[in-house]
Amino acid sequence: MTNYPTQVSIREVGPRDGLQNEAGWVPTGQKIALINALANTGLKRIEAVSFVHPKAIPQMRDAAEVIAGIERVPGVNYSAIVPNAAGARRAVAAAMDEVEIFLSASESHNRKNVRMSVAESLAAAQEIAQILGEAKMPFDAVISTAFGCPYEGDVPVERVMWVAEKLLELTPTPVRITLGDTTGMANPVLVDRITGEFQARFPGRTLSLHFHNTRGSGLANVLAGLQRGVTHYDSSLGGLGGCPYAPGATGNITTEDLVNMLHDMGISTGIDLEKLLECARLAQDYVGHELPGQVLKAGPRTRLAPF
Ligand code: ZN
Repeated sequence: MTNYPTQVSIREVGPRDGLQNEAGWVPTGQKIALINALANTGLKRIEAVSFVHPKAIPQMRDAAEVIAGIERVPGVNYSAIVPNAAGARRAVAAAMDEVEIFLSASESHNRKNVRMSVAESLAAAQEIAQILGEAKMPFDAVISTAFGCPYEGDVPVERVMWVAEKLLELTPTPVRITLGDTTGMANPVLVDRITGEFQARFPGRTLSLHFHNTRGSGLANVLAGLQRGVTHYDSSLGGLGGCPYAPGATGNITTEDLVNMLHDMGISTGIDLEKLLECARLAQDYVGHELPGQVLKAGPRTRLAPF
């Protein structure tokens, strides 16, 4: 019998990964209202914004105003994703609780995404780590396309481990490594293999998994992670967002669906599902279209009265 973790920590990435992949503009006030509502659901980690160049991601051009405008709930960790030293300095200026840095496991995706080779990104990561270290700001290192690349297809497990090793050599060291299935190419067997390899190579390091539900395998992939004892996951309220490579495709795995499944499995998250559903409805209003979240449509599981 599998020993599942008793507790799981969810990082809500809807305000960042979700909104930046939405076509429409969500006004600053609505972004603030959404983050404030999320902070009152019991969620302990919220990826609130990204500090990227406004031309690269116009949806995040108001990141500093958003952070200045939110009400910081004590005990909630508000993070920002940054692509370079300039972004790291903005994150420090905004007094974020944590930062995510990122690079791709595959060379072509990294070049398309940040116009740098993986080696250049690793050098940039050290520069960012130093800035964050001086500010005593912890960071998570995200490896994108860890389960497959839209340009190269399969990414060798060895390649992912090599990038993880390089990231774990940064000074200061990232608080955790997140493996990202950026375009929804993972499957449970691959998740089992890659997480198993990571745990064998880097015992004691915290691993986090970031799945997109692009092809419907999201929660199955979470289950594979749970069976390996992984306790950190990213998800997005309502399943907000999309995929920049496939117009119309769904985004991150849905937070309410994940919370609903975990709670039904007897795994605690500290999150109030009803409050979370209210946030998902709010997000649905703000983006102005139906979101893919399934619990959002069906409601939480209820016990029907016996006949
Ligand atoms: Zn993502």
